[in-house]
Amino acid sequence: MSEEKKSLNFLEQIIEEDLKKGLEKNKLRFRFPPEPNGYLHIGHASSICLNFGLGLKYNAPVNLRFDDTNPSKEEQEYVDAIKNDIKWLGFKWDKELYASDYFQQLYQWAINLIKKGKAYVDDQSSEEIAKQKGTPTQPGTNSPFRDRPIKENLELFEKMKNGEFPEGSHVLRAKINMASSNMLLRDPIMYRVLRKAHHRTRTDWNIYPMYDWAHGESDYIEQVSHSLCTLEFKPHRDLYNWFLDQVYTTNLRPKQREFARRNISYTVMSKRKLLELVQENYVSGWDDPRMPTISGLRRRGYTPKSIIKFSEVAGIAKRDNVTDVALLEFCVRDHLNKTAPRVMAVLNPVKLVITNYPKDKEEWLEAENNPEDESAGTRQVPFSREIYIEREDFKEEANKKFFRLSLGKEVRLKNAYIIKAESVLKDIEGNIIEIHCSYDSLSKSGSGTEESKRKVKGTLHWVSIKHAVKAEVRLYDRLFIDEAPDNYKDRNYKEFINPNSLITNKNTYVEPSLLSAKPLDRFQFQRLGYFCVDLDSTKDHLIFNRTVPLRDSWAKIKQK
Ligand code: ATP
Ligand code: MG
Repeated sequence: MSEEKKSLNFLEQIIEEDLKKGLEKNKLRFRFPPEPNGYLHIGHASSICLNFGLGLKYNAPVNLRFDDTNPSKEEQEYVDAIKNDIKWLGFKWDKELYASDYFQQLYQWAINLIKKGKAYVDDQSSEEIAKQKGTPTQPGTNSPFRDRPIKENLELFEKMKNGEFPEGSHVLRAKINMASSNMLLRDPIMYRVLRKAHHRTRTDWNIYPMYDWAHGESDYIEQVSHSLCTLEFKPHRDLYNWFLDQVYTTNLRPKQREFARRNISYTVMSKRKLLELVQENYVSGWDDPRMPTISGLRRRGYTPKSIIKFSEVAGIAKRDNVTDVALLEFCVRDHLNKTAPRVMAVLNPVKLVITNYPKDKEEWLEAENNPEDESAGTRQVPFSREIYIEREDFKEEANKKFFRLSLGKEVRLKNAYIIKAESVLKDIEGNIIEIHCSYDSLSKSGSGTEESKRKVKGTLHWVSIKHAVKAEVRLYDRLFIDEAPDNYKDRNYKEFINPNSLITNKNTYVEPSLLSAKPLDRFQFQRLGYFCVDLDSTKDHLIFNRTVPLRDSWAKIKQK
């Protein structure tokens, strides 16, 4: 019991308290409320895991509510992408709902507020209104329209709704307190005129509710018990409650609570900035594998499980913090280590000829698909006299620390034989074009002979030239070279874009088993890293995206 208590995060503790105080368990209800103005990112994934996680824990419904109150930035494309990403993560929402479905109800409630003398139409510009706001230490000044008669307010508000006023000419404000110590309570705007078509309500409305007015009321309509949002909304809580007081009659009263945003090093996460990266072609789209979006991570080769694991391990915090991106990379590496089939691919090929291997012979050698998972089975890999190995895996002369191939030394070819380098063939510029080796015909892996068990220092991956399939490999790295690219006052985050975040390699050779790989299939290229088949890959033009290298190369760079 006490064990279980310890592991509760602070939001779960709040819920447990509420249950103890008499909230019925079947009244628990949560929501995930994205604004459809961009694709979901890894920060949203934390909020998704939190809300849907609570739903699973308490067997409570979780709504997917689109917070679609600003038609100038919202689109159906984003709605579709958001639904797709949540499904891909493996979560199921109870109802698919839209704040725009409540526009009529919100309008009605606003009229009630006007009638009670708690809201008024202000004819001033937003600049004038801002000037009267005061400062945290000085009270604001009342708008000259604050005491407008109710009848006039009702008429003007209706005209706003009917499209009789241009944008920016009028707003509806709640009449609260221009001297409140919480600046957000200084007569906040509830509605503005916006002559924009909405992706769902089309041209029905010429006024749109502000976030603060729409959000808590939507929670109330849906009877959400705990409305969890990020810390920047903490000062909004008073306003959330003030608005609720105006509409509340009976039933459950939603409760807003806040948690810290997920920030991750070496990236930016605001949708505005991500949109900028897309629009200004720094990346190929929202699903570019370097983007911190769910769709980008998916295309990069991340698994849903690795993202959920990351959200769990990084946890839910009360205070702002930055999570090291290496943790995210660790989570995917760890999951792929357990699940990704091993294959051989050579990224920087040099030809190797086994001079004592018969010219026309070929063998299909048995290779384990995943040493971490016996049930993954085996496959056949073709072997022949001429193979490619990595250029970096050979040196004519090498010191003792070089466990790869050098003249006069032996290595094992993975799943195959022990070879010994005898000589090299060079072009006129002195570049090695062929490595000539001999092989020990009794040393075949798994053949059971004494020689097959013989230990040599290095094992190399390879592909048979005759059977190899040419492929394109996209070597992705972090999009930014700075840990906190948007943390500088005097510099733009785009100055920190990593010029080497994508290196395209069109001269890769892979084993033929990969011909049957489908988009988004994931593999370990042995000794190189984890790779995923790109969405644009075809049988005639295979494309692989590097998810992560086998080891964290940035850790090394930092130590230097
Ligand atoms: P951004 O600032 O990136 O544009 P947002 O908060 O405007 O994000 P919304 O679509 O409004 O994006 O967010 C939907 C939900 O996800 C909200 O409850 C929000 O608090 C939460 N959320 C957004 N970003 C993060 C984040 N980085 N970490 C945790 N939760 C987040
Ligand atoms: Mg938002």
